[in-house]
Amino acid sequence: MTPTSRPLNVTRVLLTITTTLRPATDLGYLLVKHPDRVHEFTVSTGRAYVCYPEATPERCTAALVLDIDPAALRTRGRERPDDFTLGRFVNDRPYAASSLLSAAIAQVFRSALRGTSKERPDLVATPVPLELRLPALRCRGGADLAEELFGPLGWEVTAIPINDSRYVDLTLKGTVRIADALNQIYVLLPVLDDAKHYWVAPDEVDKLLRAGTGWLAGHPKRGLIARRYLAHRRSLASVALARLAEEEADDSVETAATETDEDAELPETARKEPLALQRRRAVTAALAAAGAERVLDLGCGGGALLGDLVGDRRYTEIVGVDVSTLALAMAERRLRLDRLPERQRSRIKLLQGALTYRDDRLKGYDAAVLMEVIEHLDEPRLPALADAVFGHARPATVIVTTPNVEYNVRYEGLTGMRHHDHRFEWSRAAFAAWCAGVAADHGYSVDVTGVGDADPEVGAPTQLAVFTS
Ligand code: SAH
Repeated sequence: MTPTSRPLNVTRVLLTITTTLRPATDLGYLLVKHPDRVHEFTVSTGRAYVCYPEATPERCTAALVLDIDPAALRTRGRERPDDFTLGRFVNDRPYAASSLLSAAIAQVFRSALRGTSKERPDLVATPVPLELRLPALRCRGGADLAEELFGPLGWEVTAIPINDSRYVDLTLKGTVRIADALNQIYVLLPVLDDAKHYWVAPDEVDKLLRAGTGWLAGHPKRGLIARRYLAHRRSLASVALARLAEEEADDSVETAATETDEDAELPETARKEPLALQRRRAVTAALAAAGAERVLDLGCGGGALLGDLVGDRRYTEIVGVDVSTLALAMAERRLRLDRLPERQRSRIKLLQGALTYRDDRLKGYDAAVLMEVIEHLDEPRLPALADAVFGHARPATVIVTTPNVEYNVRYEGLTGMRHHDHRFEWSRAAFAAWCAGVAADHGYSVDVTGVGDADPEVGAPTQLAVFTS
């Protein structure tokens, strides 16, 4: 694995990824790097290598080694619009994993980060047993912060301080999809390092939200993550937090306003009532109006709505369903299921399932909620979802919310869709047409309204439909 022509004056950093999946050598498919050879890359800060120190059917380890060339950094530094002295930066941080390693991960594991694999699409979609090790991680905030950042994502975290407390030897264990694991590392390394080595441009907000898909919006430390990732640029962090709040907001988790970090800033947007909160209010009002007691939250995500429902005694049975085990793990933590008394605990169930398949476990409920879920499915899959929910599970009431694409022109700086994982966003006419079709096909009546401040021209930001059988 030692390259033959390595520059003399380099520093090395290391990440290892181990799995005990059977056969463990399938790690090669997950990372799109064959275990039998050394893979070598030129990256912007030096050379990167991927090799497999261990590759047996029982256990397989991939190592990413990054040789940082300070000379390359100095050259890059002159082209930058800021005055970082990059050579000194890297010499101050020998062997430490940092934002430099994060940049290399983005380049070397591009396909794995996207969660795509031509050969094994099923495998990349599956949580697998993983152990990630970063033997020297620069960590401003120490081992405690590493625990606070990775713990809520379902990792078992071991962070041992090295020398002084600014470096830790970090081990993460968990059953996680490879793309989630890599995206989390990609975002959280520079957050822990808190010293980005390059100029942070506005497109970093998009990069953060894309890499944070499925785990950042519900993260209790998302305020700190956004600020540090965006190098404390107040305006960018506000935009990122506002867009995350659109996705999911929970009063009990950290917002920029409650952060006690010394760099705490209060974005304007944090003072307004987040749309996600207004949406949950509208949904719980509709559930109450329907007189529902036994309810399904289909595509429950990190469990913000489940949290509201658990706090309301009228709901005797609450079931959260999601296809993502990461989302369910986050919901479980948020609800503190392990600490609830048995009588409370027995009201709540979390189920893994795909909403495009008929599922007998979902039959016979008073109401089902599909809050900001349909736009995450490919449009051709919607008839299957309608069949499974309206045709098979057949709750008396179904509440559906989805973005109103017409309103997007009111979001400053938004290009494209509101969220990277959205497959479509509909106009009011398109949603109304879909609702009418589903209601007619499955014997429901439907009432469509909006949530959030309605604009006279483009309507409300969120559309809401209540179906009644
Ligand atoms: N309802 C939550 C989460 C919305 S994000 C909220 O409003 O905060 C969409 C969620 O739908 C994600 O958690 C995603 O994992 C889930 N999802 C997407 N497609 C799904 C499918 N086919 N089956 C089940 N869940 C799905």
